[in-house]
Order: sequence, then structure tokens, then C-alpha cells
Amino acid sequence: MSAIELNARPHKDYSLHLAEAQGVLSQAAAQYAGMEGGAPRITQASSLGAEDVVISHIVNSLKLDVEIFVLETGRLHQQTLELMEQFKASSRAPVIIYKPVEEAVVQFVAKEGLDAMYKSIDLRKACCNIRKMEPLDRALKGKEAWITGLRREQSGARADVPLVDVSEKRTKINPLANWTWGDVWHYIKEHKVAYNPLHDAFFPSIGCEPCTRAISLGEDFRSGRWWWEDEAAKECGLHVKSAEVSALPVR
Ligand code: SF4
Repeated sequence: MSAIELNARPHKDYSLHLAEAQGVLSQAAAQYAGMEGGAPRITQASSLGAEDVVISHIVNSLKLDVEIFVLETGRLHQQTLELMEQFKASSRAPVIIYKPVEEAVVQFVAKEGLDAMYKSIDLRKACCNIRKMEPLDRALKGKEAWITGLRREQSGARADVPLVDVSEKRTKINPLANWTWGDVWHYIKEHKVAYNPLHDAFFPSIGCEPCTRAISLGEDFRSGRWWWEDEAAKECGLHVKSAEVSALPVR
């Protein structure tokens, strides 16, 4: 059974959720448009997961002045890499790929091993720092706002995600904050959006290959990520408040 067959069940307020996302994105794109012909001051962080392909599709459909970036960590699944190339070639909005600093990766792997993330939480965070956080800093440089696919439903830690988060120095736009998983898949079905085939193999949340696994029906949404760790340690840093990030031992 495909992810569409399994999940595409819109909430009764789906139309409102869609209009809300379109409105928030349109407003943000206008507010953070490029100055004097320059690059837009807003960018979408895309992991090419289901939520992110929906947002990119809305951005492209509405012809919004928004950049999109993907963090190519060097540990992504082949399916994700293929989707990334396909998406880059077809997107109207510019898609920029950020990779980690090669020397930092080589040194880390030589010292700790390729799969150091399983040895300790600190080493997992160190790996995320090199492969995700430092490239993220580069991706966000010069941007005043960024767009994410966070939804309240995803986990307890995300239950109060606002549509527009101005609590950080850089505004975070979460257009799907109120969407259900069924809404996401209904949109993908309705608009024939290309998605990662790993979703058809019960991967709801897709990250790096060594740190992502399929889940069983009924398991928590994020139990497929860093499953060997305690729940509290699971955010990679991308969506942890900056004060908390700076408190991490790897920062
Ligand atoms: S998700 Fe796993 S492989 Fe990817 S950067 Fe983090 S620890 Fe490394």
C-alpha cells in the first residue's frame, strides 16, 4: 500500500489549512522580497520530506520569490538524492544544495569512525553539527526569515509550533503548523507532487540513512529517527531554540 493510499485523508478543515498556508507564504514572500533586484531574504529549508515537497509546490504554484535549500549531508539515502536532482531540475524557485566542509568530515570520520553517531549522543550531535548545523548556518546567512515544514502534530516538542515564530533573531515561518498528516498526503495526491519513495516503505520522517528507519503502524511519528536515543535528545539542532543550541556540548 502506498503512502498516498495509506494516509491521504484530509481533515474537515483542509481547505482552511490550505488557504492559511498559501496566505502565510504569500505574505512572508512579499515581506522578505529581495531588495533592489537582489536575492530574496527568505528561504525554505527542505529535507525533501512530505511536508517540504508540499511547501515547495505551493511556493512554485504561487510563483513566490523564495529560495529553497537542501542540506546534502553526505549520508542521505539514494532515493533522497535522486529526488533532489529531479526537484532541482524542475523547481521554478532556485534550489541551492549545501554540503558539509569536506575536511571537517574527513577528520571526524578518521577520528571517530563513519558511524560514530551510535556510540554516544555527543558524537551524534557532533556529526549533526558538521553535516547539518554548519551548512545550515551558511544556508541562512543573509536571510531574515526561513520556512520549515514543522507541524504541531509531529511530536510533543512541536505541539505549540506557531505559524510565524518571531521569538528568534530570524523569523521562522511554519505554514503547515496546523496541517494533519492526512492533509499533507491529500495535497500530494491532489497535485501529483513527486515525493520520496521511502515514504511508501513506512518512513514518515526521512533524514540521513544511518539515522532513519521505517516504523510500524501505530508507532510515534518520530520514532524512526535516532531510535536508539531517549526521546528528549532527538532534535538535531535545526529546530532547537538558539539558546538551547548554544548550550549543547558540541556547539
Ligand atoms: S542525522 Fe545521523 S548521519 Fe546525519 S548528520 Fe546527524 S548523526 Fe550524522
